[in-house]
Amino acid sequence: MPNQKSALPYPAHIARIRYFFRGLSILVLLGLLSCKSREEPSAAPEGIISRDDISGIPAFFLEKEPDPAKAAEDYHNAWRIHFFDVGHGDAILLQGNGYNILVDGGDRGSGIREYLLELAIDTLHWVVATHPHADHIAGLIPVLRHFPVLNVMDPGVRHTSLTYDTFRFLVDSTAAIFHKGMAGWTHSFCDQFAMQVIHPGADFKGGLNDMSLVIRVQMGNTFALFQGDAEHRAEKSILNSGFPIKSHLLKTGHHGSRTSSSDDYIAQVQPEVAFILCGENNKYRLPNEETLSTLTKYGSTIYQSNTHGNILVLIDEQGYRVFPKKIPPAPETLLAGIGIRD
Ligand SMILES: [Zn+2]
Repeated sequence: MPNQKSALPYPAHIARIRYFFRGLSILVLLGLLSCKSREEPSAAPEGIISRDDISGIPAFFLEKEPDPAKAAEDYHNAWRIHFFDVGHGDAILLQGNGYNILVDGGDRGSGIREYLLELAIDTLHWVVATHPHADHIAGLIPVLRHFPVLNVMDPGVRHTSLTYDTFRFLVDSTAAIFHKGMAGWTHSFCDQFAMQVIHPGADFKGGLNDMSLVIRVQMGNTFALFQGDAEHRAEKSILNSGFPIKSHLLKTGHHGSRTSSSDDYIAQVQPEVAFILCGENNKYRLPNEETLSTLTKYGSTIYQSNTHGNILVLIDEQGYRVFPKKIPPAPETLLAGIGIRD
């Protein structure tokens, strides 16, 4: 059954160990459930920046800011979205109020484990695998092996690949609690920080891409939509579902392929900023011109991992700011470093 734990038999002592760690994880979870301030305390006197202040902050962000102490404070005070440059594949980290939520991990060798280590991540409270294709879950395998993971969600669709089997085996053999994501599922991490699954609905049937979990995240007054590789059929179903989809930020479907980002859908999402995760000089020649022109038609500013590298978004009650690691040659240069809403 697709939404059940693996049916692989476990020896009794392994089962006992699993239940021990599962119980331990629940205790840890209870200890973490209280909403932490987005600001982490600094031990250094005012005006002096300590190693602790900048620990886990991406170097490219600090390097660009004229006042590193102020930048560190802004960083710790913000809800954060990291779009990682993992070549062809998706890997996104959401952070805020002490929570770490990883949405996909890129392909094998994506380097996501190393990115998370650079960010000084010690626990992943949620791992969301949008769908079972390797360019989204293969990178989660070293993550599951290395980091304590409290919860894992995927659409509950089986896939006949060694990568998927390994991923599910690891989920089943660690303390992580597995959740089958489905439209309507909602989780509030804290006041003003929540995540809602808006696709697939219980009756929706489709290929693996269209079965991608689509999640809409609220951070303050900013909404962000992440749609894995959901394509036109899924977008049509979302439009018919009645879920609110208008979002300031959009992780476009299927790496900027024209099989996603249909005109009707983008017209309703109305993204101010669209993020396309695709590999440099990728063999699929993504993103597709048609996708770019649809996004441009509706006024979206576009950031691409293949030209901007890692992209950091800081969000607070006033809005959001986008910080790309690289600024590509003109005309994209004009787009870099903006994003504060009025
Ligand atoms: Zn993909």
